[in-house]
Amino acid sequence: MDTKLSYYVAGHRGMVGSAVVRALQRRGCDRILTATHRELDLTDQAATRAWFAANKPDVAVIAAARVGGIGANSAANATFLYENVMIAANVVEAAFRADVGRLLFLGSSCIYPRLAPQPIPEDALLTGPLEKTNEGYALAKISGLKLCEFYRRDFGVCYHALMPTNLYGTGDNYDVVGGHVLPTMIRKFEVARTTGAPEVALWGTGTPLREFLHVDDLAEACLYALGLDNPPDLMNVGSGREVTIRQLAEMIRTATGCQAEIRWDASKPDGTPRKLCDSSLLRSFGWAPKIDLEEGISRTVAEYRAALASGDIRLGH
Ligand code: GDP
Repeated sequence: MDTKLSYYVAGHRGMVGSAVVRALQRRGCDRILTATHRELDLTDQAATRAWFAANKPDVAVIAAARVGGIGANSAANATFLYENVMIAANVVEAAFRADVGRLLFLGSSCIYPRLAPQPIPEDALLTGPLEKTNEGYALAKISGLKLCEFYRRDFGVCYHALMPTNLYGTGDNYDVVGGHVLPTMIRKFEVARTTGAPEVALWGTGTPLREFLHVDDLAEACLYALGLDNPPDLMNVGSGREVTIRQLAEMIRTATGCQAEIRWDASKPDGTPRKLCDSSLLRSFGWAPKIDLEEGISRTVAEYRAALASGDIRLGH
């Protein structure tokens, strides 16, 4: 990637966008453009076009999205579809109108069919029905990656997409109702440890399998993909390691030093039974993750404690 270019990182206050900004800074990039949600609402077509026309970045990285865990998604599929499809359509068209030559769109492995072959290759896209709990989000992300593919094919711009597996790490959202499983578990075990509660209630059966990737590994993958002259339209980004939700809970209980028992609340959804990405395409270009799950969890627990102590933490959506 060219550190002399200007980079617009959409969603720079979120976990993914802030990790991309840190990665760009580590490479010595000093032309990083950002806009807060208050300054630019990406669901607003006119505002998005005006921002791109005024700022004309060389490269755009689209990490802005309404995101959430299984609870938030299943309760608000309408909002997840509407907001995310608007963001995708507005940024791709506005970038194209502003002569942005390169755009990287970030999605999620939930775009793949619920019962896709495992590990999931990129060509499993649109081969079967989606997981219902996050169908709105998935449809929006499919639209976004297809917009990139079609603008590239029809208009010759290099717009492409990465589909990360379940992410966690620095700057995560610790909302216990709407959040993702890993940060939610950290918060639940930390609350139990500090209050001496005898039990922690977790969702579902504990049997689903998930793959987790530290967000700093994803950010490096983004820069890696942006450095490719002719990247594939779509590439998965995962760690290659799966754990059951039950194993994840044990790892986090150990990392926090919590003594509480785990109670599985089967009235809450399990979601898709398994979603392991086949990341061999991106790996064939030379990218590899560096942060293993145990190390990433202990780092994240330490960061959670420090963030809680300083008050600089997101505890809700
Ligand atoms: P998903 O990977 O898209 O399904 O979303 P999540 O990151 O929310 O992970 C959901 C998985 O973790 C499901 O199998 C849930 O049953 C399980 N899980 C267990 N406890 C919790 C919890 O406290 N919060 C959440 N969000 N998921 C939990």
